[in-house]
Amino acid sequence: MIPLEEARARVLAGCARLEAVSTPLAQALGCVTSAAVVSDDNVPSFANTAMDGYAVRAADTEAASEAEPARLVVVGTVAAGAAPDRPVGPGQAVRIMTGAPMPEGADAIAIVEVTSTEGDQVLVRQPARAGQHIRHPGGDIAAGQEAFPAGTALGPGHLGVLASIGREKVDVYRRARVGVLSTGDELVEGSVPLQPGQIRDTNRLTLLSLCRQSGFDVVDLGAARDDEDEIRGAIGRAVATCDALIASGGVSMGDFDYVKKVLDEVGEMAWMQVGIRPAKPLAFGVVEGKAVFGLPGNPVSSMVSFELFARPGLRQMMGFTGAALDRTRVRGVADEGFARRPDGKLHLDRVVAAAGDDGRFHVRSSGGQESHLLRAMALANALALVPDGDGIAPGGDVDLLLLG
Ligand code: AMP
Ligand code: MG
Repeated sequence: MIPLEEARARVLAGCARLEAVSTPLAQALGCVTSAAVVSDDNVPSFANTAMDGYAVRAADTEAASEAEPARLVVVGTVAAGAAPDRPVGPGQAVRIMTGAPMPEGADAIAIVEVTSTEGDQVLVRQPARAGQHIRHPGGDIAAGQEAFPAGTALGPGHLGVLASIGREKVDVYRRARVGVLSTGDELVEGSVPLQPGQIRDTNRLTLLSLCRQSGFDVVDLGAARDDEDEIRGAIGRAVATCDALIASGGVSMGDFDYVKKVLDEVGEMAWMQVGIRPAKPLAFGVVEGKAVFGLPGNPVSSMVSFELFARPGLRQMMGFTGAALDRTRVRGVADEGFARRPDGKLHLDRVVAAAGDDGRFHVRSSGGQESHLLRAMALANALALVPDGDGIAPGGDVDLLLLG
């Protein structure tokens, strides 16, 4: 057995970053910038008002009070999107809406809440300080300023910023295209009645969904029977059309585990027994330049193996680095004991972690911990890392990997 960290390091060493491509903003969510983004323009590009009210000269309102409001003549109106057509002179005001450009001459906004009108005049009942409620050009981003450095993972807000500086495309590392293959003679799909020994293929749907949730593009490669030629064909299709392949099943010690045989023929594979439970067996290698993951067939194991190995490797291909490769790790408190025996393995228990009034995550098992009990995995929102030894007593600290 090898430690988790060693297996993970071997995987990461084989997952080369994909090339950078200029990508339309609407398709760049979750991608990582390959170059710094520098703005050509000021955002906002012009001085404008942050509030609805009146553009005024601050000096005209200096002495304004409830009892003695400043009286100004309203000489016009500017809406957002309109250009002011006249300056504000002494004793004058312009009605103005949020986002509208400041008219020349005005240096403050009297918010509508402190005003009232009388004929063509506005009464301002509070002094408007110079500069008050004005958004300045370049206040968000100045022309020539770096909006984001290379290596930025683009979230919704980042895309908004890129739109604000007039970009239609952004240079990012390409989204990984991942083929997902199930293997096994026992697998059937859909609602067909099960014949003796048959089970329904669940791994393909869960792995495709995990890939989508992680921001990868997916190719459904179907299910191959435990047949050398069929598996060879599916792997060939995968490496021809995808950046990576995730196969599940057929990597254990069974007599019909042909995935292992075929992958050994075509690529440089490492067959690992990782010191973890579940998900001990792991195959990883590079076939014709493409990363190939052979995950264990048990449904829980395949999901855990995806989280620990495939997801970080594929994220590295997309330009993520460091802690961003992995799910968030936090420390919680065990609300119940996590008993175990020493076996040389790190156990990853399926748990529900809920924030308590004390601000800590409180952790309970989500159900049975055997590797075919998919429901307990589905109900879990975290994996508890229970180190080799005698387990964690109630009230003890427990490290968590937060899922999703
Ligand atoms: P294997 O790794 O092929 O020996 O499979 C280990 C266990 O996982 C067996 O009980 C298989 O029936 C089960 N299994 C393999 N592939 C799948 C799949 N795609 N969906 C659900 N269970 C599977
Ligand atoms: Mg099998």
